[in-house]
Amino acid sequence: MIELKKISKSYQIGQNKLEVLKSLDLSIAQGEFVSIMGPSGSGKSTLLNIMGILDDYDAGEYILSDTLIKNLSQKKAAYYRNQFLGFVFQSFNLLHFKNAMENVALPLYYQKVNRKKRNEIALEYLDRVGLKDWAEHTPSEMSGGQQQRVAIARALIGKPKVIFADEPTGALDTQTSNEVMDLFKEVNKEGITIIIVTHEDEISEMTDRVIRLRDGVIESYGY
Ligand code: ADP
Repeated sequence: MIELKKISKSYQIGQNKLEVLKSLDLSIAQGEFVSIMGPSGSGKSTLLNIMGILDDYDAGEYILSDTLIKNLSQKKAAYYRNQFLGFVFQSFNLLHFKNAMENVALPLYYQKVNRKKRNEIALEYLDRVGLKDWAEHTPSEMSGGQQQRVAIARALIGKPKVIFADEPTGALDTQTSNEVMDLFKEVNKEGITIIIVTHEDEISEMTDRVIRLRDGVIESYGY
């Protein structure tokens, strides 16, 4: 599903070149449930941004679902993101002036699905994350855990093959974190690949494979 071959990425900072990812090789198969761990500054976000086609890389090859992802135009990158990927963030990234149903429906708005249809589908996805009764509520009326479930429903509505989650439980208490992880587990059972960046051992222990990064190299592949 995901194949990184000798991926390198550096940033130019003044006179200095900071090598953030150093000829990194990594394979993640369809249906895996993995976490990526590593100290702050080890390159986790950079790696996630490359795999999520949010950022480009300097050298190597990234193959996503048999497609070479390299030097894509903004339009092509957006196309592959919509086609294959879903995103969940630590801070939920919901629109505060929209209710839960409208937030979940948002990706379908960009696909030009009409309002009635997209709200109908959004309700199905809200139901799936246990929040059908909260459809009319705005994010500020919901708990952190509920907001994250709305965000997961929004990620699922595009029928992604892979979901990338960057510290998805970072803003949640332990019990709520466990509930969110249980939901990821259920989603994964349906065959969707899940890749979670976390610095919490309790979270990575709930995934099937832990990939450890240090100073831009993979220290351990988790198998
Ligand atoms: P992590 O997510 O593991 O904390 P990051 O991928 O965010 O690590 O960052 C890795 C290194 O790259 C850090 O030293 C960070 O300061 C640097 N870095 C990240 N993004 C940029 C950027 N846009 N410009 C310059 N340096 C960056």
